[in-house]
Amino acid sequence: MYIQQRTLAAPVHFKGTGVHSGKTVDMTVRPAPPNFGIRFRRLDLPGKPLISGHFNRVIDTSLATVIGEDGCIVSTIEHLMASLSGLSIDNAVAELDDYEVPIMDGSASVFTDAIRDAGIAVQDAPRMYFVIESPIELKRDGKAVCIYPGNRRTISATIRFDHPAISEQKYTVELSDGNFAREIGPARTFGFYQELEYLKRYGLGKGGSLDNAVVIGTEGVLNENGLRFPDEFVRHKILDSIGDFALLGMPIMGHIELYKSGHNFNHEFLKEFFKRKKSWRTAPIDAAENRALSG
Ligand SMILES: [Zn+2]
Repeated sequence: MYIQQRTLAAPVHFKGTGVHSGKTVDMTVRPAPPNFGIRFRRLDLPGKPLISGHFNRVIDTSLATVIGEDGCIVSTIEHLMASLSGLSIDNAVAELDDYEVPIMDGSASVFTDAIRDAGIAVQDAPRMYFVIESPIELKRDGKAVCIYPGNRRTISATIRFDHPAISEQKYTVELSDGNFAREIGPARTFGFYQELEYLKRYGLGKGGSLDNAVVIGTEGVLNENGLRFPDEFVRHKILDSIGDFALLGMPIMGHIELYKSGHNFNHEFLKEFFKRKKSWRTAPIDAAENRALSG
């Protein structure tokens, strides 16, 4: 018996603010049939266009991950993509009445908690994986993304910032048994106070506030209640990267290692990944051989 695809057991609704647009957004994430993948529907546009949350639809990664097709865009998809991937949901459609996914509290917890409450349904179709056969490495400008063969799904990240509130942090997580929802999902987006002021001056980050980001000033973290984990920053980098890798359309079976990477460099890596077709194959995975992954 192969590990099967999964979807939500019932629709879940979210209302929140777009971190860049500053606008209020209604979003409903609904179940979808096997082999549908993750897609986004713009209810506010004529014909209610559907865009695939897939690598080949990405049009911008400078401030957030933006997908687009035929002039229709959906922005800031990364935390929802990470939540679905982290909960091993293969098929879903997110319906929005604006162009930006709401930021909620800046983490993935609001999404993961609501989806877990709604329940997850196992579907009658095997899930396909990218099984890594030989290492794929991309190293440039002091950054690196590497993937190695392995019979577990693990991800490690190291970040370095020249600020005492962060400095160097490293974290490793195995993506099974609810680890994502517990260890990664609650970690919030972070930014430096001066950078946020700069963004706002140019009409970006309009919805950004201490309610949906960890903000770091010269003296340290400005949020009244401090951090959710001492190493919340590196955990959020892992969250973002899970969202980026979810754009591949299938989970990776193997170990991902990130060094000082972000959305842009992760996307450079995804291009490299598709060029290196001899380094991976696609295959279903036997549930008996990998019990931890089936749940
Ligand atoms: Zn993020």
